[in-house]
Amino acid sequence: MANERNPFTIAKERILKAAKMLGLDEATTQLLCTPQREVWVALPVKMDDGSTRIFQGFRVQYNTARGPAKGGIRWFPTETIDTVRALSCWMTWKCSVVDIPLGGGKGGVICNPKELSNTEKERLARAYVRAIAPIIGITKDVPAPDVYTNGQIMAWMMDEYEKITMESHPGVITGKPLEIGGSKGRGDATARGGVYTVRECAKAYGIDLKGKTCAIQGFGNAGQFAATLSEELLGMKVVAASDSKGGVYNPNGIAAKDLIEYKEKNGTVVGFPGAQPVTNDELIGLDVCVLFPAALENMITEENAGSIKCQIICELANGPTTPEADAIIDAKGIHLIPDYLANAGGVTVSYFEQCQNAQNYYWELEDVQKRLDQKMTNAFKAVYEMSKAKNVSLRDAAYLVAIKRVADAMKLRGWV
Ligand code: NAD
Repeated sequence: MANERNPFTIAKERILKAAKMLGLDEATTQLLCTPQREVWVALPVKMDDGSTRIFQGFRVQYNTARGPAKGGIRWFPTETIDTVRALSCWMTWKCSVVDIPLGGGKGGVICNPKELSNTEKERLARAYVRAIAPIIGITKDVPAPDVYTNGQIMAWMMDEYEKITMESHPGVITGKPLEIGGSKGRGDATARGGVYTVRECAKAYGIDLKGKTCAIQGFGNAGQFAATLSEELLGMKVVAASDSKGGVYNPNGIAAKDLIEYKEKNGTVVGFPGAQPVTNDELIGLDVCVLFPAALENMITEENAGSIKCQIICELANGPTTPEADAIIDAKGIHLIPDYLANAGGVTVSYFEQCQNAQNYYWELEDVQKRLDQKMTNAFKAVYEMSKAKNVSLRDAAYLVAIKRVADAMKLRGWV
């Protein structure tokens, strides 16, 4: 199974393939396959019952040729250095493909946040920042929220960093609450960025989206915004959505707002009035124009990819398609907007948050959305042009664009 393989090995295979296509030399390829810096930290934390527990944490700065590292902090019970390494590698390509002047980073702490009280979470957040303080900062590495971390945790981390430096440093971390230097427009940025790429993809391939249908696998944060924004910005009709408990389908359309309200009340989309139940595999195979995988990794596999009928897949989730399924989708001529392009809207607005913090001047929502549109549109166009020039899929083209930019930066700096 693809999801049982070492994630960093998979990440390196992608780099090697792109490096070969780009004709990169041995040293450049080797450096692209090597994390620049890894820090392992032990975090003693006083628990509410008076005992002390030692947590293990990591921070990886994968490549900073294009700018300071950027990437989230995960709190996850089965966190491993290999996952953090692979994710920091993907962050490097993600920042590069949307052409923001940042490198790739990622952090993780092995813990189960569901078993921690709020005060224990605060002490853990502060301990992690004390341990990695020497290597973070606006000119070095800027963390953000990720799996099981949130705005409140970022606020504690920023506060701890400011206590250490005895200066104001809102830009040391992004994903902060608005009251202490967060950016407007961060909430829906991932889905909004993805919807902009769908619009550009449809333009590029001559597909008319107005009045057409879409299906959403994973009706969570990204999926719900994708539904409302597909209606709002693309004039599309949502006909199906699913979550971990099941899915619903109504060929006549489901109003995104009503489904969100229903899910809030009932904890699932299952049972939505007027819709029929669908399994996740059935949802993937629906005759829709756009499919948004917005749930987990490895959901589209060689077992179900053969049934896909849509024209565009917009991968809002990270790694939803296995390499075997990728080949099937490619052979069907479906346009697949790959994850680290499709879901780069989040990190792009995080970058905008850094810019606003540095200026100490905050932008209006319209400014954030306009600039996000520009970045996502330019990124899609660069990837599309590369796919035409090299006659490769959008996924391969995204790797070529991103890795070439990092390789060029390393060359200009004289690293290779
Ligand atoms: P979320 O937890 O809010 O939503 C995930 C949804 O998927 C939930 O509704 C869950 O019920 C559903 N789900 C779980 N298992 C499922 C299954 N087997 N079949 C169908 N649905 C299932 O998470 P999110 O923040 O929306 O993130 C979703 C994906 O997007 C993840 O891969 C994440 O890494 C990626 N992503 C999110 C952001 C962001 O800003 N939210 C940014 C970049 C990437």
